[in-house]
Amino acid sequence: MLPCSTAAAGAIENVLNDLARRLGHETEFLQAAEEILRTVGPVLDRHPEFLRARILERLVEPERVVMFRVPWIDDTGRYRVHRGYRVQFSSAIGPYKGGIRFHPTVTLSVLKFLGFEQIFKNALTTLPMGGGKGGSDFDPKGRSDDEVMRFCQSFMTELFRHIGADRDVPAGDIGVGTREVGYLFGQYRRLTGTFNGVFTGKGLTWGGSRIRPEATGYGVVYFAQNMLERTGRHLAGMRCLISGSGNVAQYTCHRLLDLGAVPVTLSDSGGFIHDQDGIDPEKLAFVMDLKNRLRGRISEYVTRYPRATFTASEGTGSGPGQWQVPADAAFPCATQHEIDRAGARALVAGGVRLVVEGANMPCTLEAAHDLMAQGVLFAPGKAANAGGVATSGLEMSQNAQWTSWTAEEVDRRLREIMRRVHDQAWDAAEAFGVPGNYLAGANIAGFTKVAQAMLEQGLT
Ligand code: NDP
Repeated sequence: MLPCSTAAAGAIENVLNDLARRLGHETEFLQAAEEILRTVGPVLDRHPEFLRARILERLVEPERVVMFRVPWIDDTGRYRVHRGYRVQFSSAIGPYKGGIRFHPTVTLSVLKFLGFEQIFKNALTTLPMGGGKGGSDFDPKGRSDDEVMRFCQSFMTELFRHIGADRDVPAGDIGVGTREVGYLFGQYRRLTGTFNGVFTGKGLTWGGSRIRPEATGYGVVYFAQNMLERTGRHLAGMRCLISGSGNVAQYTCHRLLDLGAVPVTLSDSGGFIHDQDGIDPEKLAFVMDLKNRLRGRISEYVTRYPRATFTASEGTGSGPGQWQVPADAAFPCATQHEIDRAGARALVAGGVRLVVEGANMPCTLEAAHDLMAQGVLFAPGKAANAGGVATSGLEMSQNAQWTSWTAEEVDRRLREIMRRVHDQAWDAAEAFGVPGNYLAGANIAGFTKVAQAMLEQGLT
């Protein structure tokens, strides 16, 4: 908890205790709520009107949660049923905006955690977007294109009545790439008879924005550059650990290579590869083809590049061994809770001085605090990966204006936005007495903006 008055601390504890009492099983959401609330005490001291208006109590309740059944038929003719969700958390500063995730680990708690984080991330982008998240426990891995299409069509057959270009604009996330967005958007168009910017991450020929696929990973690297600039250091020559091998990991790797860094690991849920010689552009192109077209496993990397090693994971995740590889910087880009306290210790022991979260909350709260306590420069996902949703915002602007910008134009705007996200987090941390603490700074800046909007709009 950041230092604050007993009144503010008491209010925060009351809200957290009440959540824990009612929602003890929603561990991911409780962590997200705790992470944010424990950093906003000093804001409440400066704005006692937020306490009177019960901003905290209102903010932790989603405005709406939609849960639905998703029935579909697999290729063998068997009937199947999954669970679908959309958490519309806050529309205080704009229409709900946030991705759709298809992964077996999806639960209401995971989506509430992601939707809650999204509120503050979107506020940091300086674009008018509220926070939401959705998804299903369906796993597209190993499913045929036809099966994925039938699932997406069934999912959208319920979701379409709850979303809209001025209401709720979903995008992709884990397990939802251009293919799935295509099937979801196609069904929306068919059901509503409208063609509008209801989804972002669309294909280039049907309303998508240039640089949207690259945006999250590029933005992560731009954020890292902004952080290093403050210390007079550069990414060139830095050995980097990257986890994941999906969208965010691929384009993080891509931009790191452009800047002369040396990525040495990638992973998926089966384990991680370590390439001492560095993952160069040709090797990255192999991984992108393997993952995006062939839908293969990262373990196949070592068949092609036998000097690299593959370490299988036990249970879920790429495995803690990845964080023991000696390096200068780490970019966790797979999923939540990849780095716990042991992982953080391993990173520090291996020489890592910079950790930039590409995924959403890949570090547990304890791991994040341990890293900062050891003097590691640490960027939370809600700031560092905001480039994806920011470029989704740019896609919405282009759709609304019936126009399409060049790649250079979108990239220029992305860089500017990442600079603003960085500076807001940096400035807020300084203004509230915790200089260099990006975690607190991002929370404070995002929270203040949303709380102010809620106050000005009355009791909603
Ligand atoms: P992808 O589906 O493209 O890739 C996800 C990668 O992470 C895959 O390599 C996947 O391996 C691995 N992974 C997923 N779940 C697990 C798990 N439980 N344990 C171990 N590995 C896992 O997703 P994205 O790259 O789009 O998203 C990655 C992260 O970035 C997520 O946290 C997402 O919320 C966040 N993010 C994404 C944005 C975007 O624009 N795409 C924007 C902002 C944040 P496998 O294939 O084996 O499952």
